[in-house]
Amino acid sequence: MNLVHVGYKSVNCYALQSGDGYLLIDVGMPGSFGELVATLRRKSVPLERVRCLLVTHFHPDHCGVAQEVKAAGATLLLGDCQADRLAESNRALAGFAGYQPIATAGNHVIATGNPADWREATGIAGVLLHTPGHSDDSVTVVIDGLGAFVGDLRLPDAYAGRAAAQAAASWQRIRAAGARQAFPGHGSPFDLDS
Ligand SMILES: [Zn+2]
Repeated sequence: MNLVHVGYKSVNCYALQSGDGYLLIDVGMPGSFGELVATLRRKSVPLERVRCLLVTHFHPDHCGVAQEVKAAGATLLLGDCQADRLAESNRALAGFAGYQPIATAGNHVIATGNPADWREATGIAGVLLHTPGHSDDSVTVVIDGLGAFVGDLRLPDAYAGRAAAQAAASWQRIRAAGARQAFPGHGSPFDLDS
């Protein structure tokens, strides 16, 4: 599995090669499409070969130019826990300069916790998980033999109350799916204790 780091500014974005196409995980702030395209070009990931986009959660620094990537031909993958919240996310992000609302039509909804559904959608062995803690719409994809793309989910001790319990359950699901390394939305990858 070929993993290319295509982050820019403060956000980590990842491109996973599958056959002659790519899965993109997260995109940057509203208005930053030009920077994303320039970064992809510099990393030899042709935009027209980005077939799918996964957004770990709908905060502006992770989904800001998702609609532009869709318009360029990629399919937006949504966890079943995200699909119902998309309209609400668009409303929350409407105030950001340059934000293009993400069309609610034409997306591919994936059943979380179902490896067959993930593989059918992407051609990549792994599983999409609902991993709340940082936000209710947060998902993590665990790619077999590579690791977990966790977005902004932090370890449980970073939270209090309900969020701490949610985060603990989320990390349990991530470990149970076999992940040994985490690729966060900000900062460096880190090992998970087995
Ligand atoms: Zn966030």
